[in-house]
Amino acid sequence: MEEQKETVQDAAGHQEADKKITKENFQSGQDILTRATIGDARIYVARTTRLVRKLALRHGTSHLATAALGRTVTGALLLAATMKNDEGVGIKINGDGPIGGITGEAQGGTARGFVGNPDVFLPLKNGHFDVGGAVGAGTISVTRYGEKGKPFVGTSALVDGEIADDLTQYLYTSEQTPSSVALGVLVDPQGDVQAAGGWFIQALPGCGDEVLQQLDTNVRNTPYISSLLDMGFTPERIIGILGKGMKIEILDSYPLRFGCRCSKERVEALLETLPVKELAKLEEDPKTEVTCPYCNAKYEFSQQEIRDMAEKKRLRS
Ligand SMILES: [Zn+2]
Repeated sequence: MEEQKETVQDAAGHQEADKKITKENFQSGQDILTRATIGDARIYVARTTRLVRKLALRHGTSHLATAALGRTVTGALLLAATMKNDEGVGIKINGDGPIGGITGEAQGGTARGFVGNPDVFLPLKNGHFDVGGAVGAGTISVTRYGEKGKPFVGTSALVDGEIADDLTQYLYTSEQTPSSVALGVLVDPQGDVQAAGGWFIQALPGCGDEVLQQLDTNVRNTPYISSLLDMGFTPERIIGILGKGMKIEILDSYPLRFGCRCSKERVEALLETLPVKELAKLEEDPKTEVTCPYCNAKYEFSQQEIRDMAEKKRLRS
């Protein structure tokens, strides 16, 4: 219940800030995702500036890697918005480019992610980060973790490696959902994240052609999401732009945050799955350090702790 209250306060706070669109107001704004309907379509708009900034700091990503990771994690949050709170979603971009793969995961309003090579650098392409060049050719996989039962995994070929169109194409080919996805991350010359976010429009079954055509026109006439967010537009106002001339109903808004589920217990459980031979090798070291790929948290195990794990394993086998 506490969380619910926070959401409401947050939404109200943003409306206040909205009246004066200044950079200061925007920068004090919390990350948020707003859900709405436009005619017979669902729309989800997210502002993820702080979250992406945190990801960049945690992983020490280059400008280009920040953009690629930020887009992927924002995409995961937008897909998670279509699911129940306790269900999760993971996006894996596997390409042959120098970034070496991107992973983004979200559950409810919490997300995490990482890239293979956080130092990746390529010259700008037409004044933009060359995310497509960093990703290369390959596939996009989306895993949906339901409340119970096996996770559902779907894969499709990458279109251009820029993430948004890859996700749109995936949704169309693998999940038969006509949709429109936009993802954007604005990084300043110093490498700080100035604005990040995205939108996801999903046509509901039976959505009329007129609605689709109007949406298509609106999408084409809407500036980059990162520019709008940088100017201080809230997700709710962006929905207003995308739904211009149509019936809009705002459903709800909730805060977004960076978060990782790792813990020493989980890492220990993972170490325990290693073959006895591997554990015996670790046993020789005075200490073993394990880094969580998602958040860069470091977990230390003493020689004795590893010895106990190996001993337990030997007894069991
Ligand atoms: Zn972690």
